[in-house]
Amino acid sequence: MVGGGWAGLAAAVRASQLGFRVRLLEAAPQLGGRARRVVHQGLALDNGQHILIGAYRQTLDLLHSLGLDEAHAFHRTPLNLQSLDGAGLRLPDLPSPWHLLAGVAMAKGWSWRDKLALVRQSLAWQRAGFACAPLASVAQVCTLLTPRVMQDLIEPLCVSALNIDSTEASAEVFLRVLSDALFAGAGSSDLLLPRHDLGQLLPDAAERWLLAQGADIVTHHLVSTLPSDTPVLLACPAWQAAELTHRLAPAWSAQASALAHTAIATVYLHTPEPLIWPSPMLALPTGPGAVAQFAFDKGRLSGQAQWRGVLAMVVSHCSLNRDDTTQAALWQAHAQLGLKQLTHLTTVVEKRATFACTPGLVRPGTVVAEGVWACGDYVAGPYPATLEGAVRSGIQAAESMAGQHMGENTA
Ligand SMILES: Cc1cc2nc3c(=O)[nH]c(=O)nc-3n(C[C@H](O)[C@H](O)[C@H](O)COP(=O)(O)OP(=O)(O)OC[C@H]3O[C@@H](n4cnc5c(N)ncnc54)[C@H](O)[C@@H]3O)c2cc1C
Repeated sequence: MVGGGWAGLAAAVRASQLGFRVRLLEAAPQLGGRARRVVHQGLALDNGQHILIGAYRQTLDLLHSLGLDEAHAFHRTPLNLQSLDGAGLRLPDLPSPWHLLAGVAMAKGWSWRDKLALVRQSLAWQRAGFACAPLASVAQVCTLLTPRVMQDLIEPLCVSALNIDSTEASAEVFLRVLSDALFAGAGSSDLLLPRHDLGQLLPDAAERWLLAQGADIVTHHLVSTLPSDTPVLLACPAWQAAELTHRLAPAWSAQASALAHTAIATVYLHTPEPLIWPSPMLALPTGPGAVAQFAFDKGRLSGQAQWRGVLAMVVSHCSLNRDDTTQAALWQAHAQLGLKQLTHLTTVVEKRATFACTPGLVRPGTVVAEGVWACGDYVAGPYPATLEGAVRSGIQAAESMAGQHMGENTA
């Protein structure tokens, strides 16, 4: 197994359950990949604030199977995209579709025209089975919506799920996420906000479990050539997988290296002022100079004194440099959250945070070549670059490998 991000860890657990003896080689000093712990001045931060949703079934099942207690790991709340003044959508704790209808009816700052438009558009999506032309952009399938609903709901959902603006994002993938989240079973649209660092979710739990099964996990090990005597599962990012396979599988490699990527930045700040917010995550108003879409109260999420006053400001689809991003987030914390005393802790910019999920994008498949499989958030699948996409892909790749290698037992 090459790579110990969430896809590689999910694949390693599944492969081990299927009887493989797992050897996992990870280039970095720690597991977790793009969803990992980053320690800054004694505080266990993340390389980026993450949000999970209730529809991430395979991720939540995996965490549960590894013994993680959901209530300890996450702050679970019905979908809430409200800003500090209460404007925007907040769903009540009701079964689908009543949660959506009631949430829309109560949305503060929306006119009846806005609300009716969202109901009509949702019914149109539902009638079409959440399907659309493969080349359509998100903006093109939202023609019934008003600018207010686009600004308060669709843009924040699109940029947080696909990390790209609605005019450039794949409607096909967006509608799939929307139908899984907003129009599926109970709790699907809930937000699950990690209470602690990301390492305490899958990476630590999977490492413990794998070691207990006798797996061999080696960090600081950059794989530069593929072995030919054993099945290999590539769980490294697209650009690395492309490099490792360009001789072995040129067509697959070309598809992987053709993917474009977009950045996400997380600006961590501290304030001694009390954060009197209605919820630990706030949507931030869009407008000139606003780059961050969401702010998180890490103190309230963790419930621990050392985190009091720590904020994470998330800048999806980030196009500024680190300093400008930091300045813009500081300005937003001041102007939109009313905070006067702010200290900058650190800004983490992940330049290749996610692949750009554009309309009609062809993603490389799970099978690379004889004896070589790939998994990762970029591998063909129903989801955009998300933890759930990575986990699903990892599980699927391990099962595909097992289908071909019944009887052999090393990966
Ligand atoms: C800042 C940020 C915020 C995000 N927010 C969210 C969110 O809110 N919700 C959500 O669902 N998703 C979010 N995502 C996306 C999510 O983190 C990714 O989709 C997911 O972590 C990808 O996992 P992966 O295992 O496919 O790839 P990676 O995490 O990239 O794992 C690949 C691993 O392979 C290792 N590797 C690379 N090359 C080699 C080599 N040659 N030899 C050995 N090892 C190698 C790497 O070090 C890495 O550990 C976010 C991502 C970022 C960066």
